[in-house]
Amino acid sequence: MVESNGFLVCPECHCGEFEHTTDIVVGYPMPLREQLKSEMVCENCGRRYPVTIDDIPLLWSDSLRSIYMRDGLEPNFVHPSERDVKVANIRFYDEVSEEYIEEVHVNQTFRGRFLQAIQIATNQPLEVHLDVGCGPGNILDLTAGFAQTRIGIDISLRALRIAKERYKPTVILGDANRLPIKDNACSLVTASSVLHHLYDPSAFLREAHRVLQVGGGLVTDCDPNRVAADFSALGRLLYSLRLPVYRCLSVFTRRFFGHRDHNLQRYNALAEYHNKPGSGFGADELEEQLRACGLDVVLVHIHNMNEPVIVESSVVSFDVKHAILQLLSLRSPWCRSNGTTILTVSRRS
Ligand SMILES: [Zn+2]
Repeated sequence: MVESNGFLVCPECHCGEFEHTTDIVVGYPMPLREQLKSEMVCENCGRRYPVTIDDIPLLWSDSLRSIYMRDGLEPNFVHPSERDVKVANIRFYDEVSEEYIEEVHVNQTFRGRFLQAIQIATNQPLEVHLDVGCGPGNILDLTAGFAQTRIGIDISLRALRIAKERYKPTVILGDANRLPIKDNACSLVTASSVLHHLYDPSAFLREAHRVLQVGGGLVTDCDPNRVAADFSALGRLLYSLRLPVYRCLSVFTRRFFGHRDHNLQRYNALAEYHNKPGSGFGADELEEQLRACGLDVVLVHIHNMNEPVIVESSVVSFDVKHAILQLLSLRSPWCRSNGTTILTVSRRS
């Protein structure tokens, strides 16, 4: 049985009624087909959503479905479309999620800051925490002690399996831009290191607003600050040289897991769609986007990833790699507005 059925809706028509059947009539491609045990059929539009043998419903949008129905599809790296960015994210995180859960966003610095942001986001008891782009589950682990229901959504089935096994939340394969979640169902929505992976982050922000209850909060973190990503020519050269260096280092340490071969580096670069030199998010612009999606912005905070708490200070903590790139780009590495990363807290009123 798929848990949390009360929260689930068809991502395309938003109907919450499904018929469950073990007659799988759709010709899903292998190896996906052998991992399925049943289908959920939307009672309104008739779309059929498969459920895996380990109870993960694939409540995909039509566009995500079309990717899964064509196994082995390669993205266009030169002129990527929204679909290509999704393909790259699926390929990369299907491949590296085991390492990701050990190496990324698990340190106490990150956890402390993120928990503080959650406390700022919502002062209500945490009934439903939805983590979008949950990957292997590191954010869902943070609310294990106090959220009544934890739901993780991601487009990588491999990442969802690890999250489910390790942290026991409800996990759903779904699209951030078309959440398979009922209106007003969530007290907290989190998206860590997610906005920059989305072709159109605003589409997700509108969805976050839709699924939040009144008084519920949204926390985003670990998205690149455009100011800090605007490198000089020398900064860009240094940045591009890191690829072969990281690839060599990946032989010796798991920390550089995303660089262990050329293809993985290409998937990673495309998956990190808004995280490259000259790209990223402007703090003001992100605040504007949140407001345009109907959210009340509580906080837009720039930091350097190595700060364990959210502090109001114009000086940002010191980080060597960041400092070198900022100095080469003739900016102060100490000025908070030049920090690498943006965290936001907003609320639905
Ligand atoms: Zn439907």
